[in-house]
Amino acid sequence: MFASVIIDQDTKALDKVFDYKIPDKLELQKGMRVFVPFGSRILQGYVIDIKRDTLIDENRIKNVIAKIEDFPVIKTELLELMNYMCQKFHLRQTSVLRLFLPAEMREGKVKELFEKYAILNDCYSKNDFKRAKKQLLIIEKLESYDKVKLSQLKKEFGESAVKALINKKVIKLILEKINRKPFSINMQDKFIKLNDQQKKAIESVGEKGVYLLHGVTGSGKTEVYMRLIAKVLQENKNAIMLVPEISLTPQVLSTFKARFGDKVALLHSSLSAGERFDEWKRIFSGEAQVVVGARSAIFAPIEKIGIIIIDEEHEQSYVSESNPRYVTQDIAKFRANYNSCPLVLGSATPSVDDYEAATNGDVKLIEMPVRANGKPLPQIQIIDMMNEIRAGNSGIFSTQLLSDLAKVINQKKQAMIFINRRGFSSFMMCRECGYLAKCNDCDVSLVYHKEDNRLKCHYCGKQYKALDKCPNCGSDRIKQGAVGTEKVVAELHNIFPDVKILRMDNDTTSKKNSHQKILAEFSSTKPAILVGTQMIAKGHDFEDVTLVGIIDADQSLYRSDYRSTERCFQLITQVSGRAGRSQFEGKVDLQTYSPRHYVYKFASNYDYKGFFKKEINLRETAKFPPFSKIIRILFSNINENVVKSELKSCYNKLLKVREKFYDDIIYMDAMKSPVKKIKNSYRYQIIIRIKLHNSQLIENEIFACTNEALKSSVFFEVNPENMS
Ligand code: ADP
Ligand code: ZN
Ligand code: ZN
Repeated sequence: MFASVIIDQDTKALDKVFDYKIPDKLELQKGMRVFVPFGSRILQGYVIDIKRDTLIDENRIKNVIAKIEDFPVIKTELLELMNYMCQKFHLRQTSVLRLFLPAEMREGKVKELFEKYAILNDCYSKNDFKRAKKQLLIIEKLESYDKVKLSQLKKEFGESAVKALINKKVIKLILEKINRKPFSINMQDKFIKLNDQQKKAIESVGEKGVYLLHGVTGSGKTEVYMRLIAKVLQENKNAIMLVPEISLTPQVLSTFKARFGDKVALLHSSLSAGERFDEWKRIFSGEAQVVVGARSAIFAPIEKIGIIIIDEEHEQSYVSESNPRYVTQDIAKFRANYNSCPLVLGSATPSVDDYEAATNGDVKLIEMPVRANGKPLPQIQIIDMMNEIRAGNSGIFSTQLLSDLAKVINQKKQAMIFINRRGFSSFMMCRECGYLAKCNDCDVSLVYHKEDNRLKCHYCGKQYKALDKCPNCGSDRIKQGAVGTEKVVAELHNIFPDVKILRMDNDTTSKKNSHQKILAEFSSTKPAILVGTQMIAKGHDFEDVTLVGIIDADQSLYRSDYRSTERCFQLITQVSGRAGRSQFEGKVDLQTYSPRHYVYKFASNYDYKGFFKKEINLRETAKFPPFSKIIRILFSNINENVVKSELKSCYNKLLKVREKFYDDIIYMDAMKSPVKKIKNSYRYQIIIRIKLHNSQLIENEIFACTNEALKSSVFFEVNPENMS
């Protein structure tokens, strides 16, 4: 028998299947990991097939050396998923397979954890211990408990008594595997009586198919998800529940743990290596039945899936933005299809693409238009910041926002202030000569962080001394750019010196549990103001938040991206959704410099449908997705000449493709990327826009043109989330 093996080396040259002979004594199955000889080395590989014949010559073929684990680590469904992903996203087999395993397992660094327990041997006589009081107590304890942790016995009765009993062979030690628990909670499960809207939503989810649950913020989607999962568990099937990484707050995790207990496995980035490994194993063995996690939990080795749920389905983070690039929703569709189970996509602001699919009937639409607390959504007031400037207020905050903040503070309630930029100010620039502080390794301006008085690159993390003088002309007239979270906090401190003001962004949450700490502190302080980036926009459910301030909503609007208006609408709705979630009504102050943009009219009325209609018409006219596909091929390399020449040869081949499909290719051009250097790598790109007709075929041909770029790293994206 022969094994088809994929070598675990992520290089283009080894992205093939190699045949090996299976020695007679070795029992192999599809999905196992093995050691194989490769050239003069021994490498790890995955067995993806077992077969009777091979085309390799009998005396040239080499033997599989050994298996790494004695069970298949990659289950059949995932092997099929690998094939699908390689085709759909143009990925290498190894890089896909690696997604399916915890890195800890591949590197062999983490071991299972065992605990020593003491149990009684069969033959002993208590009479022998009349004079050894402690030893007798140990025996009695073991008689009533069967087994006790060795460490606990030693602590309770002392080392020598325990040792004595071991030596006399009265007790013996056994090893038991223990699971590292990523999360301990003491939250009570909240009993919720479903309202009619929720009941209807639950009944609408059928045996299979894709469902879009469009429910306003606070409509009680979480309860719907949990009931759907409970139903599936009753049928003895399993569930996957995905939540964006930044919404995976302790609050959210606890809600699921409280309801489903040990049946839940958690997979997210703040687990330690050991914890992730153990959770993965619990899923693999079938012990855990509900997987709750971020994007990569879609690869969980769980079988008999009865439902897959993606919360906040519109979130950008469901697309992996580094290699290997994949779109989580597509993978969820594959797995739902494979398991004949429903896929539920939930959001208060569905992506335009998915809502379009729902109006076409490919996806079934379920609506929850009312908040569970029966209260209206918070009123959104649009504040024209140009007016403020005309009235002589050039500060960060409008008069309205300041007076609303004062009210909140008086009433001992809470406010959240959203600003989509961390740091103090976005750049430092010389007023005399125009010098702009930039990162040496990346082509981006540096962000000033006042706390440590340094300039930081948000692309590579490199830090520089802050400017007091212009290094170019020596002038000390240094200008600071647009504000960030740090500056907002500083200003608020000046205005409300006695109020607790907390900050939550990438800088304040880098330590483990710091996220949790900030939220806990906020939740227990009244009045208080929480200032933050995207991180505060989602998932939080604080009863006493009655005011949300959005500092400059325009930020997300002026990116050169066809989705920027959509993103802006989503952001306003999500952030606004944090206010007025319990019995207290909420309000939102939205500051903008372009108040007449259509997105604000629709967003402030919570008119998703109106927004969608406008947006989809614009996209259709301009032939943007979902009415076309945008393909970006990004080349990068340390050596600029290498990138340029590989880009050029790719482009020349693409010209032939364009000739062949002249009517279907709307646009094609090669250029420097907007950020032309990151971490010293030069970045060039080709952008192509194609009609949907024949698009898969054309996409494949376009991809084939990238094959000769061997030195540059090539990143192939369809409808990229980010064009920088
Ligand atoms: P969403 O995810 O749709 O934004 P949540 O699931 O967070 O909303 O629910 C918002 C709040 O409403 C939560 O505090 C939740 O406990 C509560 N809630 C949900 N369903 C009900 C219900 N049927 N009756 C009363 N309160 C509910
Ligand atoms: Zn200068
Ligand atoms: Zn940098």
